[in-house]
Formats: sequence, structure tokens, C-alpha cells
Amino acid sequence: MVVVVQQNASEKDIEGIIKVLHDFGFDVHRSTGVNQTVLGAIGVKPDFDTRQVELLPGVAHVYRITEPYKLASRTFLNEKSVIDVGGVPIGGDTVVVMAGPCSVENERQIGVIAEHVAKAGAQFLRGGAFKPRTSPYAFQGLGEEGLKLMRKAADDNGLKVITEAMDASQLELMERYADVIQIGARNMQNYNFLRELGKATKPVMLKRGLSATFEEWLMSAEYILSSGNKRVMLCERGIRTFETATRNTMDISAIPVVHAKSHLPIIADPSHGIGIRDKVIPMARAAVAAGADGIIVEVHNDPDHAKSDGAQSLFPAQFDEMMKQVRVIADAIGRKIV
Ligand code: PEP
Ligand code: MN
Repeated sequence: MVVVVQQNASEKDIEGIIKVLHDFGFDVHRSTGVNQTVLGAIGVKPDFDTRQVELLPGVAHVYRITEPYKLASRTFLNEKSVIDVGGVPIGGDTVVVMAGPCSVENERQIGVIAEHVAKAGAQFLRGGAFKPRTSPYAFQGLGEEGLKLMRKAADDNGLKVITEAMDASQLELMERYADVIQIGARNMQNYNFLRELGKATKPVMLKRGLSATFEEWLMSAEYILSSGNKRVMLCERGIRTFETATRNTMDISAIPVVHAKSHLPIIADPSHGIGIRDKVIPMARAAVAAGADGIIVEVHNDPDHAKSDGAQSLFPAQFDEMMKQVRVIADAIGRKIV
């Protein structure tokens, strides 16, 4: 941590700051320039609250120089980690494609969609059986029945399953039916749940919270990693901003910036990211161009009658078009879409 002292600070102020830093257990290196004194506080304290120093008399600024997350950081592993999901690598040279409806609705719907997306090149079937809905009166998902239908549709078409768990009581079902457990934006900071995910044997895809900073998102990943599950991937799904023309603001910058901070793979979700069907393909192209390790996209055979998120779900033919376009982009940056 670096403490920049105010230009008009007295020697008494500076000695006071040094004493407090020592009391917190830091080694202090003082460098005194013509107009400014800077204190280097050395010591590894990931949970140190810098405000405890910021408010001392004579302090101008305090800068952290190490990240508060460890296992998720590039300092811990300075190469991208690759997560193997039953033979499908995530985070390597290939860009994985996950596709399917927002919600599993019935056997025919999930079967038709699975067959279509598999033929077009997806490796994962997405779909929710437990749905986090803003309204308690909206469709909440089919529960275990939905998981069964999804597992069968995926197996029939050689796909893996990614599906959302909303709380720890659903993890046992996830072990039975899912290949990757999705944690929704609204649960990103449900810390007790994140700790439970540390005990899961399945990989976890952690969506970014609606208003989460990169640091908060990586700290949430750290909860899962430090509780024992090393197979964590992130998912940028758009954040809440002042813009009202789109459902969310798809933060493409998250992809290169978080890649530089962390070795964890990042999947992009252009469907929730923008929330408007005819803008999903351009956002998918942008995400692949920015280096996303995968895209997760909502596709529905009859989006106008979908039980959730129909307005942002691609028609099957649009999914084919998206695949055609993102393959060209992946190729241009030396990556592959299987
Ligand atoms: C979903 O994937 O359908 C979903 C509810 O996602 P999010 O948590 O990003 O809103
Ligand atoms: Mn959805």
C-alpha cells in the first residue's frame, strides 16, 4: 500500500501515520521529496480497509498495490486456466458456444431447440429450471422435471448442460443433472451460497452482478475458489446503467480488462447483455472479437410465446446466422469455434 502525505502535513502528522501503520503490522519505508512525502507500507493484508488510513490527519491518498483476491488473480497463475467439462475445454484456443431457451418449458420445446443448436455447432444446452424472476407471479421454472427434460434433450444431441441453481438446496440436483452450474447475477454476492459451491464437484459459471465492479466480481469468484472448487468461469451479462434504450449495458470492456486481472475464463451473454433480439448478433460478434472464451445465448423455437425472455431470444435461423458470423470473427483472431 502506498500512502501519499498532504503537502502541508506536519512532521507530527507524518509520525502519527507511521505509528498507525506500524500498529497495523506494516513495515514502513519513508521517502521524502522536496514537496511531498510518500510512505510505502509493506505487508500482505488482503482484507485491510484502506479507509482506516485515509482518514488520518495528513493523508492525501492511499493506493493499494496488491489485489484483495488471490486465487483468482494473475499473480497466482499468470496464464489462462482451461476448464475441462467432460472433454470440452473452456478457456483455451476454442470459443465455446452455449445456447438454448431462457426457461425449459416442455419436452418438445427443449428437444427441438437442442437438436437445432447442436446441429449449428453449440456444445452446451442452456436453459433454466429454477428461474429468478422479478415477479413472484411470473413463471418460476419446472424445477426437477425441467432438469430431467433438459438432460435428456442434451444427451440425445451430444450436448453438455448448463443450468442455474438459485440456492444451496438445489445443488444435489445439479450434481445429478448439470455439467456446469450457473450462478445468476442476483446471487453473485450471496456469500453463504458461494461457499457451498466450493464443495460442488461441477464447474461453476458466475455471472456478474447487475452493479458489480470487476473487483467485487472477482472477490465473489474467490469465495468459490477458496472454498475448494477450482473450476470457476465468469460471465459478463450486462450491467445496470442510466441508459434505458437497452435492457442492460453489455460491458464488452470486462472481457479484456478482467482477462488481464484474472486467469479465469470469461463467457459473454449478449442476450441478457442487451435484451433486444435483433441486437444480440452484433454483441455476440463484439464479445468474440474482444476475446470472450465463450458465448451463452438464448434461442427459442417460438420466442413470441416463450415463458420468459422471448424478446431477447433468437429464432433458430438467427442462431445459424450468428454462428456463421462469429466463426469468421474467431478465425480472424486465431481462435476456433468447433
Ligand atoms: C438467465 O440466464 O436466464 C438469467 C436469469 O440470467 P441473469 O442471472 O444474468 O439475469
Ligand atoms: Mn433469460
